[in-house]
Amino acid sequence: MMLDADIKAQLAQYLQLMEGDVLLKVSAGSDDVSRDMLALVDELAAMSSHIKVEKTSLERTPSFSVNRIGEDTGVTFAGIPLGHEFTSLVLALLQVSGRAPKVDQQVIDQIKNIKGEYHFESYISLSCHNCPDVVQALNVMSVLNPGISHTMIDGAAFKDEVESKEIMAVPTVFLNGEFFGSGRMTLEEILAKLGSGPDASELSNKDPFDVLVVGGGPSGASAAIYAARKGIRTGIVAERFGGQVMDTLGIENFISVKYTEGPKLVASLEEHVKEYGIDVMTPQRAKRLEKKDLIEVELENGAVLKSKAVIISTGARWRNLGVPGEAEFKNKGVAYCPHCDGPLFEGKHVAVIGGGNSGVEAAIDLAGIVKHVTVLEFMPELKADAVLQERLYSLPNVTVLKNVQTKEITGTDKVNGITYIDRATEEEHHIELQGVFVQIGLVPNTDWLRDTVECNRFGEIIVDKHGATSVPGVFAAGDCTDSAYKQIIISMGSGATAGLGAFDYLIRN
Ligand SMILES: Cc1cc2nc3c(=O)[nH]c(=O)nc-3n(C[C@H](O)[C@H](O)[C@H](O)COP(=O)(O)OP(=O)(O)OC[C@H]3O[C@@H](n4cnc5c(N)ncnc54)[C@H](O)[C@@H]3O)c2cc1C
Repeated sequence: MMLDADIKAQLAQYLQLMEGDVLLKVSAGSDDVSRDMLALVDELAAMSSHIKVEKTSLERTPSFSVNRIGEDTGVTFAGIPLGHEFTSLVLALLQVSGRAPKVDQQVIDQIKNIKGEYHFESYISLSCHNCPDVVQALNVMSVLNPGISHTMIDGAAFKDEVESKEIMAVPTVFLNGEFFGSGRMTLEEILAKLGSGPDASELSNKDPFDVLVVGGGPSGASAAIYAARKGIRTGIVAERFGGQVMDTLGIENFISVKYTEGPKLVASLEEHVKEYGIDVMTPQRAKRLEKKDLIEVELENGAVLKSKAVIISTGARWRNLGVPGEAEFKNKGVAYCPHCDGPLFEGKHVAVIGGGNSGVEAAIDLAGIVKHVTVLEFMPELKADAVLQERLYSLPNVTVLKNVQTKEITGTDKVNGITYIDRATEEEHHIELQGVFVQIGLVPNTDWLRDTVECNRFGEIIVDKHGATSVPGVFAAGDCTDSAYKQIIISMGSGATAGLGAFDYLIRN
């Protein structure tokens, strides 16, 4: 039995939504993973008369493809799509059976219009919470366009392939055998990468907005909803809807909700935003802001959006170490997401740079997977909460180095070590290891407007109690501002303030 009773009960409800027959073509050997995969496929078939199973030989064993009767869709799972990928399997079954994916019609048309042959392969780990988005996006593309196919590959079941392709971060996607991208990617981002996103003139030709929000995290979503509820023309332009929340696993301090998860909260935010007919433009990156009669926001694709008021809510990103080797070995041993990439370092020695809460949490998490974790903290003491430090020091496979400065991440084609300086003795040391997780905090995404709006020495936009910046008509909210604390609920509150502040500005001007 691969599925427990609770999951089976939920699955049974979903399978009732299947609209037509689906043929699972299964390529199995005599190994343990094949046996488990066959058990899963048989369980699925026993649960719905719409699911048929046929034995075959596919490019990888063990794997199975999900097809319409008489027509291959190109959706293949190599390994067993349980863990975080179970939803990907359920959605694939529903979509191949004829159920429409929950995607805007405009995006569906874009996918259907892609010409040519595209074979995607995505390497994932079953514990990676960023991977299902990519797997599901590529599956939707395969289901909708016969020229597109996609194979999800569980790195743990295909270790040799992962080693030979030197994959050290998930998800990693290959297109027609060539590296395509790594890390979380939305469907819109994949389409834009394929050159199939909306073109610049389409965006520039839009009528001016009353309020244009730059950034689609919790602060941007909140600002846009507050503005749109005033009945004014509101848009959001963002690189990635959801912001940092998409990278967050458990959330226990979103008041009134005892526990939720990042992607779930983002889905609710998106639904709420859509409720108000807000024009959401993703994946689009703003690169310049200028106040003329209207405020102009220029995007990296050259498009210029115009608005009477603008709310900047571009949040923050992981801070880089800035030492030699960091950029060269990114995704080749240098990682930022322990939840996603930790499993790829099973049995290896890794370092975590940073002794704050996120660094110590990462080290505790990794200690359960890898052989040994070395924590490097610049200051003489760790900054993490006492309870986390206690847990960390109780672990047998963790070494903590305090008062040390990371000098270089070394390697040839991938990371092989780290060099640090003991700040007390000024002696240089080198440790041989295979992975470095950088956890040294965040920097505001304001580089593109430092000459336009007033920022403090950390690059955070200075706002007043209405969310107004130094430029009339330009407001800001969330982690990109000088607010004392950076949290979801705080960013949503400041988004609401900025939305109301912008409306107030419009009625007075
Ligand atoms: C791993 C992790 C765990 C966390 N856990 C919690 C938690 O448990 N509870 C909690 O309350 N908080 C948590 N936080 C903090 C919380 O996620 C942030 O405070 C919150 O997301 C800030 O929201 P924001 O909208 O200001 O910015 P962000 O969430 O950073 O969103 C910024 C938005 O701007 C977009 N953007 C950036 N630059 C541009 C540009 N040039 N052009 C267009 N768009 C752009 C981004 O794509 C994104 O849409 C966590 C953060 C991290 C990283």
